[in-house]
Amino acid sequence: MPRLRIGIARFWHESNTFSSAPTCIEDFEKYQGGTLVGEAMLGDTGRRDEIAGFVEVLGARDVEIVPLVSAGALPSGLITKRAALHLESELRSQLEAAGRLDGICIAPHGAMSAEEIADFDGHLIQIARDHVGIDGVVVTALDCHAIATRRMFEASTAMVAYRTHPHVDVAPTGARAARLLMDALEGKTRPVMRMRRVPLIFPPPDDGANSGALKELFDLFTAWDERERVIGCSLCPAFAWQDVPEQGVCAIAVTDDDPDLAQQLADDLARRVWSVRDRVQPAPMISVPDAMRRAAEIDGFPVVITDSADTVGGGAPGDNSALLEDVLAHRASIDGLILAHLPDAPAVAALCDAKVGDVVSVDVGGKRDTRFCNPVSVTGKVLCVTEGPIADDFGAGTTPTTETGPIICLEIDNVRLVLTGRVIHGPQPSLYEKVGIEPFEAKVVTLKTGVGFRKAFAAVAAEVLRADCPGAESYELTRYEFEHVQRPIHPLDQDFDWEP
Ligand SMILES: [Zn+2]
Repeated sequence: MPRLRIGIARFWHESNTFSSAPTCIEDFEKYQGGTLVGEAMLGDTGRRDEIAGFVEVLGARDVEIVPLVSAGALPSGLITKRAALHLESELRSQLEAAGRLDGICIAPHGAMSAEEIADFDGHLIQIARDHVGIDGVVVTALDCHAIATRRMFEASTAMVAYRTHPHVDVAPTGARAARLLMDALEGKTRPVMRMRRVPLIFPPPDDGANSGALKELFDLFTAWDERERVIGCSLCPAFAWQDVPEQGVCAIAVTDDDPDLAQQLADDLARRVWSVRDRVQPAPMISVPDAMRRAAEIDGFPVVITDSADTVGGGAPGDNSALLEDVLAHRASIDGLILAHLPDAPAVAALCDAKVGDVVSVDVGGKRDTRFCNPVSVTGKVLCVTEGPIADDFGAGTTPTTETGPIICLEIDNVRLVLTGRVIHGPQPSLYEKVGIEPFEAKVVTLKTGVGFRKAFAAVAAEVLRADCPGAESYELTRYEFEHVQRPIHPLDQDFDWEP
């Protein structure tokens, strides 16, 4: 028997259809060292992603690994048609060069959407399926924030998803997918998959899947691994800020040649998610002025004020100025430093000749987010001019450092506004350390993250205040006009019941 040939590919992007910042080819090229094709994927890339997991498992077997494409971009708005065609043609040309493949391990994010191709993940998996034919094996490794679609389901032999949020099992999920694929190719198992969509969307709970109802559910289906004939179940709580027809939480079950059991498990999991639909909805937030008043009363530091509506990790533009505008207006009420960050390439470029000590005026924010805010004019003294990279304290990416481009820190009374050339998760404590500020000694730290603040700030924060700001990732889902989502869906629609 000839040696098995297994293709591996990864495409990573979370597409927020409410964001005014589209995702272009350049965004893929500048993310974590850019797109890798062919053998470059197998070198020392420093990435702990699904590809690392695929290689770890397949490399230990007597198979030929055929590296295809690994591309990703920071979550943002819809992928442009040009970028989508570019990614598609990279995959097609690598497949053509690869020739016969017995199987493919593919890791699309699961919540990728492109102009004119709403389900871009399904589109790419279908290309992989067409290449290996119906006898080939395609195993899909997803981010659990995937919006699992019929097309993804039909093109995949099996799908598995991350079992953690924040995601700390990215490479292990790749490894699980590769083991599943090998067992199927070697005839040890006959994977069959069933899934059940739940008419429910919700923002990620504060603590991700580390506590509460989501943790109970994740623990439950993970324990099902031990049951006879179960290969693996997944729960995709989906990504709410995408206006696509198949939006919704999805339960997925893969068994060894037992379709009835797979459907029963998917339905059981789906029913359990539906039963906790109100427990997983977010707690009410407070206005920024109220948060500033509360911060002034709190006796310790740092007080974290976080704006989840502009979470970069969820595809928001990251330069929404609403939080900063309110913070500046109420800065006098705070006795101590207030830290803020905005990614703003034009502002940084405009200040490229500024020196430490200069007093400068510049419009900041509202350039990528042209939908939910406007630029804000600020005047401040330049405290520091430097550049990245910085340490990735949030562990939000799969590499140890984050590129920031040029960094400029402005002093506006007691506010320290750090501007970066590039959009980054967070911001991260390391960003402030880079400009000589000890972030944990500030009175107020403003962040733009719904969940990620926990990793670096929750343990040291005197209090975390969740601010209700306008933006592309507001937790008030009813504020958006969803045009394509199938109705009814909770919480956009309230008065209906549901059974699998
Ligand atoms: Zn995710």
